[in-house]
Amino acid sequence: MYCVKCGVKLAESEKVCPLCGTRVYHPDLPQKEDEYTYPKSRYPKKERRSLGFPIFATACALFPIIITLACDLRFSGAVTWSGYVVGAIVLAYVIFILPKWFSAPNPVIFVPCSFAAAALFLLYIDLVTHGGWFLPFALPVVAVITAIITAAVTLLRYVKKGKLYIFGGAVAALGLFMPLLEYLIASVFGGGNMLGWSFYPMAALLLIGAFLIFLAICRPAREFVERKFFI
Ligand SMILES: [Zn+2]
Repeated sequence: MYCVKCGVKLAESEKVCPLCGTRVYHPDLPQKEDEYTYPKSRYPKKERRSLGFPIFATACALFPIIITLACDLRFSGAVTWSGYVVGAIVLAYVIFILPKWFSAPNPVIFVPCSFAAAALFLLYIDLVTHGGWFLPFALPVVAVITAIITAAVTLLRYVKKGKLYIFGGAVAALGLFMPLLEYLIASVFGGGNMLGWSFYPMAALLLIGAFLIFLAICRPAREFVERKFFI
């Protein structure tokens, strides 16, 4: 063992450095509750969660919701335009504020929740405007994107290695989704029967995904990129 302050070699039995008098901490011995091996201020704070922010944010979200609904009901006698405003606020709330209520929000749960909220908002707009595009268009699109992102988030959280494979796979999967997206847009909103524009984003995403997977496989290339971009 060596003294952390002056670097002198220490005998195992020493409690204090014979040269500089610094206290010796034996990493193998159990530490007492109030014993600090480095400055107290550098210790991570004990988990004392304050719910101040989510409570404040909830109040901030409720206020415009109430005002909007009140105005709409007062002037139109029904929920008309305020539905969109309230829906958008609720959606933003689910995405940004809801996880703040929890000390360690699990993205594997909150990511699909956010997409579900987005799907519900789209369903609301579709029903109000009698659009008829929710089932044939919005639902499959949201479902596929949710599946890809949730799979990536789940793997990133529970698989320790292979981040580049996961990113590459997710990007490539989004690329493969592009022709389906174009097909859905064409079949619901009209347009040419031939697939056209989706080839370009698909090619770009597949290339990026392949490059990420190539980096994952080829260690020298990965190290080169890491050096080049300081990552
Ligand atoms: Zn010392």
